[in-house]
Amino acid sequence: MKALIIGAGIGGMSAAAALKQQGIECAIFEAVKDIKPVGAALSIWSNGVKCMNHLGMGSIMDELGGPMHNMAYLDGLSGAVMTKFSLAPLVEAVGERPCPVSRADLQSQMIDWWGRDSIQFGKRIEKVEQSDTGVTAYFTDGTQAFGDFMVAADGTHSAVRAHVLGYQTERRYAGYVNWNGLVAIDESIAPGNQWTTFVGEGKRVSMMPIADDRFYFFFDVPLPTGLAQDRSTVVNDLTGYFAGWAEPVQKLIAAIDPDTTNRIEIHDIEPFDTLVKGNIALLGDAAHSTTPDIGQGGCSALEDAVVLGQCFSAEAKNVSGMLAALKNYEEARRLRVKDLVLKARKRCDVTHGKNMQETQAWYDELRRETGENIIAGLRTTILEGPLA
Ligand code: FAD
Repeated sequence: MKALIIGAGIGGMSAAAALKQQGIECAIFEAVKDIKPVGAALSIWSNGVKCMNHLGMGSIMDELGGPMHNMAYLDGLSGAVMTKFSLAPLVEAVGERPCPVSRADLQSQMIDWWGRDSIQFGKRIEKVEQSDTGVTAYFTDGTQAFGDFMVAADGTHSAVRAHVLGYQTERRYAGYVNWNGLVAIDESIAPGNQWTTFVGEGKRVSMMPIADDRFYFFFDVPLPTGLAQDRSTVVNDLTGYFAGWAEPVQKLIAAIDPDTTNRIEIHDIEPFDTLVKGNIALLGDAAHSTTPDIGQGGCSALEDAVVLGQCFSAEAKNVSGMLAALKNYEEARRLRVKDLVLKARKRCDVTHGKNMQETQAWYDELRRETGENIIAGLRTTILEGPLA
């Protein structure tokens, strides 16, 4: 049994790891020659960390995960603490810690774990053909590959998705721009063991500690799409949007390196029920593209991979078993991933002032928050994953 894995992102690499555990040969094809991930870092929540452990890559989390022990929200303008609490009760309830990690390091280590030399880089799929005997991938360099089945983990702009769904999906602009990057931890900006978020005016500024004494930072501002802004304008842009905000926010803007700061217009895709067509499965952002508002896009790609492996372990590894395993994967995942996308969309709207009255009510709630409600929400999201 041979699988074609399209994409060497978190989704593709974890799918390959899961299938390898089931004794399935995987050939991995990645479009770019040199992977440059979108975004500086990401938080792998406990459900994602459990998946990495299950797939045999837990040591990567141990090495890259930052010491995020507490969580705090502050009023962006005054700098006053709205709520601050320990994440220890969450870790105790779910049995694993969350790990904020450098995205480039995570992807690079997953690739090294697999074996960089056995991944085919510079292979961009442009067409797929499937039959009863297998799947053929056609690449833009004129080459092709054949396998018994395909896992398309080629991201939010997936070239395979339309073939599986029978229609083109539209990406939906979520209404805000996110700037993100890495900066050395400065305790005068925020504690080095805390996920700190400043909120106000439907905007937010956030910092999470990752390994090697660095903060992953991001700024969110509700804005129209298509503004003429880039790295050359980032400091001016942020200085303008956050004029009058508290001193630590100004210090952070002064500390960032514009050359390594990413600017992303945040999108998602309306969730769909079809994740599998015969011997082709969508996985990760190809199957479900979410806004990053609950930090679950990458985690759900890891969950997809674990479930895919579990479905293969339950089926005989012949053609009919393979088709049943893929169908079971779709059934096991479609409601979970839809729920996460819609949850993130809801959180996105409240955080980013879609209706300022609701956002204000959330700010008021934060001032009364003891940590219990936020932890309960995180716990539910985590424990609804496959390795609860
Ligand atoms: P990708 O990471 O996009 O990988 C797809 C791979 O396929 C790429 O390497 C690409 O080059 C390759 N590819 C593309 N097209 C082709 C083709 N035609 N042929 C071959 N290969 C192809 N998630 C979290 O869990 N926690 C977070 O905190 C978090 N924060 C985020 C913050 C931001 C600003 C953003 C934008 C996203 C965030 N996410 C987060 C989401 C997370 O980044 C994605 O869900 C995750 O990267 C999806 O992994 P993937 O492998 O499915 O897709």
